[in-house]
Amino acid sequence: MSKMRIYNTLTKKVEDFVPYNKNEVTMYTCGPTVYYYAHIGNLRTYISEDILEKGLKYLGYNVKRCMNITDVGHLAGDSDTGEDKMVSAAKKEKKSVLDIAKFYTDAFFEDMEKLNIKKPEIISPATDNIPKYIEMITKLLKDGYAYISGGNVYFDTSKYPDYYKLSGRNHDDLLLAVRDDVEVDNNKKNPFDFGLWFTDSKFNDQELKWESPWGVGYPGWHIECSAIALTYLGEHLDIHCGGIDNIFPHHTNEIAQSECYLGHKWCNYWIHMEFLNDASGKMSKSKGTSKDLRSLIQKGYDPVVYRFFCLQSHYRKTLVYSLEGLDTATNAYNKLKRKIKTIKENKEGTLNQKVIEKYQESFKEAFKNDMNTSLMITTLYDVLKDEVNNNTKLYLIEDFDKVLSLDLLKDEEIDKDFENYIKEKIQERTLSKQNKDYERADQIRDELLAKNVIIKDTREGTTFEITK
Ligand code: AMP
Ligand code: ZN
Repeated sequence: MSKMRIYNTLTKKVEDFVPYNKNEVTMYTCGPTVYYYAHIGNLRTYISEDILEKGLKYLGYNVKRCMNITDVGHLAGDSDTGEDKMVSAAKKEKKSVLDIAKFYTDAFFEDMEKLNIKKPEIISPATDNIPKYIEMITKLLKDGYAYISGGNVYFDTSKYPDYYKLSGRNHDDLLLAVRDDVEVDNNKKNPFDFGLWFTDSKFNDQELKWESPWGVGYPGWHIECSAIALTYLGEHLDIHCGGIDNIFPHHTNEIAQSECYLGHKWCNYWIHMEFLNDASGKMSKSKGTSKDLRSLIQKGYDPVVYRFFCLQSHYRKTLVYSLEGLDTATNAYNKLKRKIKTIKENKEGTLNQKVIEKYQESFKEAFKNDMNTSLMITTLYDVLKDEVNNNTKLYLIEDFDKVLSLDLLKDEEIDKDFENYIKEKIQERTLSKQNKDYERADQIRDELLAKNVIIKDTREGTTFEITK
């Protein structure tokens, strides 16, 4: 069997995927910072990560996946200059940080469920892992990779020669990348040094603080992910993923501190998901220019259609979101569901193993080809077009949906009120016809059609079909 091939940011190549431990895969996903609703850009990343996990399982791997929830330490500025994002949100909403964290964590998992994203097996909030951060920072200090300055503990990037290996950019390029943070933290020896533990900040109202050997304070964002991944997935990690904005500084810093702490290479495959932008450019939770799943649902879009929209493009390509794009996806999705419905209503034939294997192989090949989700969907369409019997088609649809998770076989639930309304209209139309008022009868048919209801007169009476 050919190997899964995936683009690795670390080597800048599409590579064979070979886990440390044969069939067991460990996978770490950077979770949300829960100071607001996840925007649909964030959710695109989680959809791609979900396909990665499910696709690997489809290939036969056991995947152990862990995700953190950032509820402390993610500062507004990447260079340790801003206020903790959770604290600003708590002030704005006049709630406690823990209440904010709980509210937006719950909202995040509701979104995940609506998008058919499987919950990672291990989910760990940053605030649950304080002893591990302290243990790691203590060792980094002891081994000379960290220093104390101005009451805070910083990682010394000059002690880690491979600091630039993930981003592939040099010192000057990276300096340009962080120029947004106009403020400079004068406690640092080098511009990219980063905070491991803060006891002193100009924002003295940090709500959540813990005792530590360096004073009462709180951890930096980067150490959280390293520590959580090491705690739950061990010293050798197969896959670490996140959006492309995480490459620098977050993942760059994670590698530096983890490898200095461990004394050996840590993670082999770094997989990054490209951004979802809207026509005006980048979406941003903090700048309030984001769109969340709720706003799409309010506009009448089905979350699963958003998933379908994302899967039609490659995870390494920027995707531009627009309502027109979602409308096109809605039409294509509805058409697909209608085709599947007809197959379901006309079950026949015995399973054709040869055909099943042929399409399963194509589906796997598409996934193994750097997670080509649009090709996976094309394979599904190929099945629908095939001459093979309907039971074989249904088998394959169900099988592919274990990875695609597009509710392909789920029956639409008809709203009871809507169903009653249709029945009343049909009755009225029957009466109109009996009274030879054909004009009114046609009017009713058109009214229903405008609501995507097609009626058919049969010998047994009038039936209806909802096309959307
Ligand atoms: P955050 O909650 O800001 O920590 O981000 C959660 C995840 O979403 C991270 O993996 C980010 O890299 C990713 N992300 C942020 N913005 C976007 C975007 N516009 N499109 C896709 N992924 C994004
Ligand atoms: Zn992270």
